[in-house]
Amino acid sequence: MAGTGPDIQDIDTTRPHPARVYDWFLGGKDNYPVDERLGRQIAAIDGGAPKAARANRAFMRRTTRALAAEAGIRQFLDIGTGVPTEPNLHQIAQSVVPDARVVYVDNDPIVLAHASALLRGTPEGVTEYVQADARDPHTILEQAARVLDFDRPVALSLIALLHFVADEDGAHDLVTTLVGALAPGSALVLSTMTADFEPENVRNGIAAYAAGGVTLVARSHAEVSAFFQGLDLLEPGIVSVADWRPEVPTAADGPISLYGAVGRKP
Ligand code: SAH
Repeated sequence: MAGTGPDIQDIDTTRPHPARVYDWFLGGKDNYPVDERLGRQIAAIDGGAPKAARANRAFMRRTTRALAAEAGIRQFLDIGTGVPTEPNLHQIAQSVVPDARVVYVDNDPIVLAHASALLRGTPEGVTEYVQADARDPHTILEQAARVLDFDRPVALSLIALLHFVADEDGAHDLVTTLVGALAPGSALVLSTMTADFEPENVRNGIAAYAAGGVTLVARSHAEVSAFFQGLDLLEPGIVSVADWRPEVPTAADGPISLYGAVGRKP
């Protein structure tokens, strides 16, 4: 799908980018020395940061599987997709529902550069990539409507995205606009950083990101609840991502400072 945003040649290796720092935490190869440097700084402040990235990825897998298998959702709109990391969301969804239709969205040219890996889905299904900014939800909805039928349920995922969008930058407006466009039975899947569990580590981490030019916002349980206004939260509600229906009991080696939850639109 034609992107209207920046192109591959716009990859800026002079400052760290969230998608690439996250890729470094996950042990990926699509990052640059500037990203690794910030990743190492964050890991020095909060030794659990790489574990949090992995736990967040596992939350994506479990929520996607639950929505495809239990809720019967066949359409997915994933905003803030990140650098491809196997298994990607479409692989999980299409392993349950082979004809699942998936639209990925990110605003970082590094994701665009590697988007071809996101487009290799089942022959029955559809996967598309849109280069767009979450703060421009109308463009996202317009582009996604070429693949997704918004009269039928869609799982909208904003996984580890909203901590890069401050309230003043329209975080609530974008969620309201996107959720407003969804049909009954749709779902909102969200994970976002919190300082509720480890205030000092998280504050220091935010300062390190800020020094690298990246805005990061931590939100309290009440602030995360506000994103789910008008939606019915699935069990177990808003919890640390590691505690959202874990497949194996979580090892008690420190909290994961990311809240995760799934809400359904009545
Ligand atoms: N959702 C993936 C990746 C999380 S990393 C996962 O949870 O595994 C966060 C991603 O959000 C990065 O790829 C970053 O480029 C993207 N992102 C940050 N701000 C964005 C914005 N305003 N619009 C679109 N994508 C954004």
